[in-house]
Amino acid sequence: MELWYTEKHTDTVDFSIKVKKHFYSEESPFQTIDFFESEEFGTFFTLDGLMMVNEKDEFVYHDMITHVAMATNPEIKRVLVIGGGDGGTVRELTRYAHIEKIDMVEIDEMVVRACEKYLPITASKLTDPRVSLYFEDGLKFIEGKENVYDLILVDSTDPIGPGEGLFSEAFYKDCYAALSPNGILINQHESPYYPNYAREMKRSHSKIEKIFPISKVYQFHMPTYPSGHWLFGFASKTLDPIKDFNPEKWASFGLETKYYNTDLHVGCFALPTFVKKMLEE
Ligand code: SAM
Repeated sequence: MELWYTEKHTDTVDFSIKVKKHFYSEESPFQTIDFFESEEFGTFFTLDGLMMVNEKDEFVYHDMITHVAMATNPEIKRVLVIGGGDGGTVRELTRYAHIEKIDMVEIDEMVVRACEKYLPITASKLTDPRVSLYFEDGLKFIEGKENVYDLILVDSTDPIGPGEGLFSEAFYKDCYAALSPNGILINQHESPYYPNYAREMKRSHSKIEKIFPISKVYQFHMPTYPSGHWLFGFASKTLDPIKDFNPEKWASFGLETKYYNTDLHVGCFALPTFVKKMLEE
């Protein structure tokens, strides 16, 4: 008998992965967590039936959420990750010796504990001494904070369920206040391709654009996310990801990356015409 994991990408489009086993399924107070083992993507986990992280393409997402900001401002020392329970974003941050403090606020401790057990490829650096874990709502955690982080990475789920508030204007305003004068916010911006995702992308982008003087969008290829075409928002108080980009300084860190490189840093901000039009609407 064959076992397949199938995810609805739209009402009329399904995405399926042949699985060897479905070995974990739990209801947390926030969402349903499932872990699978597959030939093509190795171990992967889903939240409420949506692919979060798998062993094969996680490097794409975690490179792109982290290194674009780090290469724009190589002086970043204090970082906040909101969500990111699998630990992949924290793992990439810990590779920078000059980062002093990494706070990660994840609403669902069960996601972190399951990833520590079944996905060490992403969770292995959560024990780095610079990392502090907070199990609470990112929305509440950020309220009232001023000038405490140089970088905020919003590594959230989609805007349905616990992640909903992380796409609100009030939350982006709180992020602005929590950032230092050269602060950068990277936001999980969804996809421009299927209309239900594109709508959320446009909504969050227009909110961020009202608050941050610099607000850009960059793209990357994520094979297991709906359509494979995914975006991050880059927002900042002063720094421009192209004009202030410092490729020599970043290269001097000597980090080996599998997806990100300094050519791609510039190239990923060049957007297809249909995406540019959506952002202008
Ligand atoms: N790379 C993934 C993606 O884009 O699909 C995101 C991965 S990470 C697992 C997302 C995490 O955000 C989840 O573990 C979820 O529990 C967490 N999360 C959702 N809403 C949150 C909130 N309001 N505060 C903190 N964490 C939240």
